[in-house]
Amino acid sequence: MMTTVEEIRRDVVLGNHILAGEGVLDVFGHVSARHPDRPDRFFLSRSTSPAQVSDETLLEFDLDGKVVAGEGHPYLERFIHSEIYKARPDVGSVVHHHAPSIMPFAATGTPLRPIYHLGAVIGPEVPFWDSQDEFGDTSMLVFNPEMGASLARTLGKGNTALLKRHGAICVGETVPRSVFISACMRDNGELQANAMAMGDPDFLSAGEVEKSNKVNGWGRPLERAWEHYCRVYG
Ligand SMILES: [Zn+2]
Repeated sequence: MMTTVEEIRRDVVLGNHILAGEGVLDVFGHVSARHPDRPDRFFLSRSTSPAQVSDETLLEFDLDGKVVAGEGHPYLERFIHSEIYKARPDVGSVVHHHAPSIMPFAATGTPLRPIYHLGAVIGPEVPFWDSQDEFGDTSMLVFNPEMGASLARTLGKGNTALLKRHGAICVGETVPRSVFISACMRDNGELQANAMAMGDPDFLSAGEVEKSNKVNGWGRPLERAWEHYCRVYG
């Protein structure tokens, strides 16, 4: 079934509202989606808080991060989105967030690893991107294509990456999938920190991550999660 531009734009609006409601997105952070008919274009709101995103605030961008349709001031960090879409043809939606539960991992470099079955969607171990490595002292924002491309290289073929002292990115084939991965990453961070405070957690084995990834977060389980979120926040 073909996805229409209207459906994708609605998903971007919903995705922002859902992750704001879930406390994954704060005042800053954003959800985008690739244009269904033009792989070289994507939709991302103009600069506003996620709860304020509506069809009217959406801008259309090319893969250089230039606005091609819509009005308003774009997010400085639009290059996170443009460079990931450029590097990853399989990605249809990108989330950038600073969920409080993952920030201690971004601050300490402690590996974030799946600690429960749904956590497998973050991948076996989340890679770290440090803007210091290539760019030295900055405002910490990903404000140009070079920084976005560097971050996309760290993401590689994975679903998630942590930005040292800043936050995280989650990507998926669709908005429901990137939203689901973001919510699971937030939960995994909280659960892992709690478990580490108690002792030495038992992480999923590599085989469990692989098998869980084939079942959870796809098909009917993913539909069920999206239906729940739309019911609560739609
Ligand atoms: Zn940020």
